[in-house]
Amino acid sequence: MGRARYYDILGVPDTASEKEIKKAYRELARKYHPDVCREPGAEEKFKQINEAYSVLSDPQKRAQYDRMGHEAFSSASKGSYTGGGGFSGFHADFSGFGDIFDAFFGGGFGGQQSRGPRPGADLLMKMRISLRDAVFGTDRDVEINHTEHCSECDGTGSETKRLNTCPTCGGSGQMRQMSQSLFGQFVRMSTCTQCGGRGRVAETRCRACGGSGHQRVRRTVSVHVPPGVDTGMRLRIEGYGEAGDYGAPAGNLYIEIEVMPDRRFIRRGDHLETSVEITPAQAVLGSYVDVETIDGRHVELAIPEGVQNNTALKIPGEGVRWHGKPGDLLVRVKVIIPERLTAEQRELYQKLLEIEGNRGSRTGKKGFFQDVVDKMKESVR
Ligand SMILES: [Zn+2]
Ligand SMILES: [Zn+2]
Repeated sequence: MGRARYYDILGVPDTASEKEIKKAYRELARKYHPDVCREPGAEEKFKQINEAYSVLSDPQKRAQYDRMGHEAFSSASKGSYTGGGGFSGFHADFSGFGDIFDAFFGGGFGGQQSRGPRPGADLLMKMRISLRDAVFGTDRDVEINHTEHCSECDGTGSETKRLNTCPTCGGSGQMRQMSQSLFGQFVRMSTCTQCGGRGRVAETRCRACGGSGHQRVRRTVSVHVPPGVDTGMRLRIEGYGEAGDYGAPAGNLYIEIEVMPDRRFIRRGDHLETSVEITPAQAVLGSYVDVETIDGRHVELAIPEGVQNNTALKIPGEGVRWHGKPGDLLVRVKVIIPERLTAEQRELYQKLLEIEGNRGSRTGKKGFFQDVVDKMKESVR
C-alpha cells in the first residue's frame, strides 16, 4: 500500500528549512489534534503528521530518509500474523522511532487501561554483518525461539476452542472494589483476577498449553538485509515476535544491525576510506597506483606530483551505493620511507642529499645508531 511521503504530509517542499517544517507541523498538529478535531480520520492524520515531523525535524533522520526513500523508511501499519509461510516483509527502522507514538498514543492519552486481548510482545535480536554485506545487502537465515498460537486449541487456551464470558467480571475485565475511608465510600477498579483483564475464560482448559493458548516454537526466518544499512539500524519483521492473546496480533521481530570493522575500509557516512602505500619517489614525481574497491574491482588512481603524506584522494562513486547519490572512496596516501636500499638506490639518494647541500649521517656502511650499539656491546664484553 502506498503511503504519502513525509514532505507531502506536512505540505512542504523537499528543500524546506527546519523553520518551515516546524511551522507547518505546528499548524497541522493544532488543526488535527484529536482533542480538538472531530473530523473522521483526524487521529490517523495526527499520527501521520507526528511521524513525518519526528523524522524531518531530526537532521540525521531526515538525511537518512532522503537517501533511503519513503518505502524503505516508513513503518507501515501492522499486519496480522498468518502463521508460518511468508511474511509481509521488512522495513528499515531506527531505534527510538516508535517511542514518539507511544508518548502520544500510549496508555496516557485517553486514560484507557489495557483491556481485552493483548497483542504479543516484540522481540529484539542483534545481527553482526561485514562491512561488505552492509554496503551491498545480504540474505541471512536467523533462528528464533518465539511463542505461537497453540496448535491444539488454535490459541484459545480452551480444549473445546470455546471461550465463555468471565463470570467474575461479566466480561469487562475489571473488578470493582468498595472501600470505606474517612472521606466516604470509594470504588476502586482493578484488573479481574480470574480472566486477567481479557474478559473471557476457557470453557475447558487446554492441556497442551495449560490454558495460555501459546506454545514455544523454533523457527528459521529468512531475513533480507537491504544495502546501505549501518550499525544501530533495526529491521522489522512483522508478526515474528511473541504471540498475542487470542484475537490479538503477534508482536514484531526487530533485528538490530551491527557492522563489524573491516580490515581495509572504514565507513564514514556514505563514503568509504582506505589507504595506499607509496614510495618517496612516487610522492615526489607523481604516479599511478592500483586500488581495490570494496567489491573487489581494481581501479587505477593517479597520484599527483608532490603529494604530501596522509593526503586523501577521492575516487568518486565507489563508496556506499544505494538509493540516491553514491558515496566516494577516499584513498589516504601513506608515504613509506624505505628501510633497505639497493646499491643503486643508495647512490641516487646520496646524490640527492648532496644536491640539497646536506651532510650524510653515516660513516662507512654502518649507520650512526648501529655504531653506538656496537660500541656498547664492546664495553659490555
Ligand atoms: Zn474477568
Ligand atoms: Zn492449547
